[in-house]
Amino acid sequence: MKFGGTSVGSSDRIKEVASLITGRGQNIVVLSAMSGTTNTLVEISDYLRKRNINGAKQILNSLEKKYSATIAMLFSEVDYRMEADEEIRAIFSHIRALCHDNFSDVDEKEILAQGEMMSTTLMYLYLHERGIDAAFIPALDYMKIDADGEADTEYIREKLRNLLDESPAATLYITQGYICRNHLGEVDNLRRGGSDLTATLVGAAIEAQEIEIWTDIDGMHNNDPRYVEGTTPVSELHFDEAAELAYFGAKILHPACVLPAKVGNIPVRLLNTMAPHLPGTLIYNTDRSGCIKAVAAKDDIIAIRIKSSRMLLASNFMHRVFEIFDNYRKPIDMIATSEVGVSVTVDSPLKLEHIVDELKEIGTVTVDTDMVIVCVVGDLEWHNVGFEAVALKALAGIPVRMISYGGSNRNISFLIKKEDKIAALNALSATLFPSH
Ligand code: ADP
Ligand code: ASP
Ligand code: MG
Repeated sequence: MKFGGTSVGSSDRIKEVASLITGRGQNIVVLSAMSGTTNTLVEISDYLRKRNINGAKQILNSLEKKYSATIAMLFSEVDYRMEADEEIRAIFSHIRALCHDNFSDVDEKEILAQGEMMSTTLMYLYLHERGIDAAFIPALDYMKIDADGEADTEYIREKLRNLLDESPAATLYITQGYICRNHLGEVDNLRRGGSDLTATLVGAAIEAQEIEIWTDIDGMHNNDPRYVEGTTPVSELHFDEAAELAYFGAKILHPACVLPAKVGNIPVRLLNTMAPHLPGTLIYNTDRSGCIKAVAAKDDIIAIRIKSSRMLLASNFMHRVFEIFDNYRKPIDMIATSEVGVSVTVDSPLKLEHIVDELKEIGTVTVDTDMVIVCVVGDLEWHNVGFEAVALKALAGIPVRMISYGGSNRNISFLIKKEDKIAALNALSATLFPSH
């Protein structure tokens, strides 16, 4: 069971989660940092990078006050309150010790890890105050990424199982989401929103019956509720549909978190902490559905067009294009080809200058920034006549830079300008889900 930032965002919410996790058999509970904490820790790190130590310390002081207030409201027994105060104070002292002039990437990751350290400490002590004998499983003792930033699943499985064996009688095991160690043994993280990935990696490692991701909304909605009104939850998704939606911007799930569950064939349920009785979304190996399920959008996309220097594509032109991206380990999201060239998209400017320089040796290159991928997901098997036409029709009034269809049976993607995103998402909902 994984609980996100809002779900543990106040003393009342922590109490609510404590009730949700008890009386439901043996469970591993993965917690995010309390909402706002990781953002604040990022802000503190930004000040430290700019060598503004006073600025960092001021923000840290007000964050510490918030935690003191939470502790005062969470615990009713003096002993537990004192212990919580002491442990949280030790974490803040640790962060203060990292506020120095030679602030490094390693220090930053150490700071970012403290949010999950604090939320799990509070939950653990609160459960004990309520007389629930939960065990603590430190994520830094089993969660690991390799030199490429990929989860080391064998290591995780072995270490986690050993740790669980140390407390065989416990019914609840509390652990931190998001944080891990890297191949050098340093503290690292699974990137923003990474607690979802912790949950699926843990679920896969122990071959869980089911993985529950508890958040602040009643499941995966059919469009992004931050931009479209009247969206509704999708009751069932295939693993591949959920993976596409997560990868292409549905913030409810970390972009990479579906794969471990899919590989282990473990159903994932998305549930709402604020309304726990609602069914939410079930993600599993479901059959084809014959309908379009949902729409998502991924921001900050860069499109690169490479026109071959020769009129007809030389036979190894494509190979050379992809080799350049590959040499820089740069993943490509969308591709469109023609007789004379190819357009691709990437999701960050990292190393792009070098890539473009090399691409210029084989063709004429144009780069468009501030683009958005809008991804329509569902049963888009090509024999389903007309499905892609409906999506296309919805976008009739919007300039579309690229279209990608046929790469899988589950998705059609459109590349549009950032300023057209909200209009595109709303137009798609109006056409694809007209009753809502
Ligand atoms: P948590 O802190 O629990 O991990 P997140 O903020 O990461 O929660 O994810 C939940 C949020 O994702 C929702 O509040 C909602 O605003 C956003 N979201 C974006 N797209 C979708 C979608 N298709 N369905 C549901 N929520 C979505
Ligand atoms: N606390 C981390 C973040 O805010 C991880 C998570 O919430 O999943 O990104
Ligand atoms: Mg999240």
